[in-house]
Formats: sequence, C-alpha cells, structure tokens
Amino acid sequence: MKGRVHSIQTLGTVDGPGIRAVVFMQGCPLRCVYCHNPDTWDKAGGDEVTSESVAKKILRLKNFYLKGGVTVSGGEPLMQGAFVKDLFEIMHENGLHTALDTSGVGTDENIELALKHTDLVLCDLKFPTDALYRAHTGASLKSVLAFLEKAADKNIPLWIRHVVVPGLTDSEESISEIVRIAKSFHTLQKIELLPFKKMCLSKYEKLSIPFPLVNTPECGKDIIERLERLL
Ligand code: SF4
Repeated sequence: MKGRVHSIQTLGTVDGPGIRAVVFMQGCPLRCVYCHNPDTWDKAGGDEVTSESVAKKILRLKNFYLKGGVTVSGGEPLMQGAFVKDLFEIMHENGLHTALDTSGVGTDENIELALKHTDLVLCDLKFPTDALYRAHTGASLKSVLAFLEKAADKNIPLWIRHVVVPGLTDSEESISEIVRIAKSFHTLQKIELLPFKKMCLSKYEKLSIPFPLVNTPECGKDIIERLERLL
C-alpha cells in the first residue's frame, strides 16, 4: 500500500510505552494554533513510500522495539487509514505493539481501517468545548468524541494527551473538563499534559506561515506540576 510519509524517527521514547519507531504521516486537515509540525500539513508533501518499505526499515531495529513498539503519528494518520492498517498488520505479524497518535478527526472508513490493528490510541484532546475546538483547530470536537467512542467500543486502551498553552488551555476549569471527558471512556489508561513549546518557530519562518502564538510564553514545569495535581 502506498502512502505519504513525512519522516521516521527511530528509538523514540515519548509517543507511547517503551522504545518505539515513530512514523510521521504527511497531511493534516486541522490547523491547530499551537501546531509544532506545520511541515506535515500539505498532503502532497513528504515522500511517497509503501507500507512494506517502511515496515522493512522499522524491522531492521526490531530487537529495540520488542518491549516498546511502533507509533504512527503525523500530520494526521487518519487521512491514510489503509496505509496504517497495512503497516500495523505487518508489525503484528512480527510481534510488535502498535499505537495510533491522532487528533481523532477522520472519515468513518479511514477510522475503521486505522483501528483494525491498533493496540493503543493516543489522542490529543485539544479543547474542552466545540466552540473552542472549532476556533483554534478548524475541526469539531464532536467528530473527536465520535472517534473515541468507536475506539472504546473496540476496547482499545486510550491515553489522552493535552497540550497546555499559557492563557489558552491552562485554567483549572479547562483541565477539569478535559479530565471529565477523558474519564467518560472506560478504556482510559492515562492522561498526559504536554507543555507548549516554541521550538517550531523556525519551521514557520521557513514555510513563510505566520505562527499564531508567536507572542505566547512557553509553558513552564511549575504550570504542569500545578495542573497535574488535578489529575
Ligand atoms: S492535528 Fe497535529 S499536525 Fe495537525 S494541525 Fe493539529 S497539531 Fe498540527
């Protein structure tokens, strides 16, 4: 199966349990204000590759991934459900754990395909209301919740991730609502708060795209520690 891939990270340690290969898919329909990967947005960008060739690259380091696994991230992997399905199927044939790191926005068909061989869903629950979600990502929270219900119906374990942006998503009310939504899924295993950083600035400059949060301060450890107490 052919697909478009932005890059492959070897020996990743932050996108799921253990040491993992992380495949960043090309193309994303969202425009999150804090996105740190604007170079993955263009669905015609990246490289055209086959799921078999990506699997081959990953399996060269298979011994490192036996206690971790493989994560497909993006961009938005739900734009290329058939590719994810094929890649994860090969990973399962080789005894490797699979994780889908997604916003949860995709067509029903792509969601069904992508979840077919997914062992763990990592979902970035970005904003707690539909109005905020639409205003700051261009997508609908309702479609994310529908995705999470589908994954829960299949009993796929869930990690919710949430980017903490000072002045935008760091209020206790906002975090409490994110936690309430996360806990409504029986498959929830973990909630991760991720600090907003601005290491992406040079990418925006290179692409000549204005970064909407250029004047927003980065999120410090103290804010994360304070909010983690709410979890
Ligand atoms: S879903 Fe991810 S890649 Fe897409 S715009 Fe949002 S943060 Fe960026």
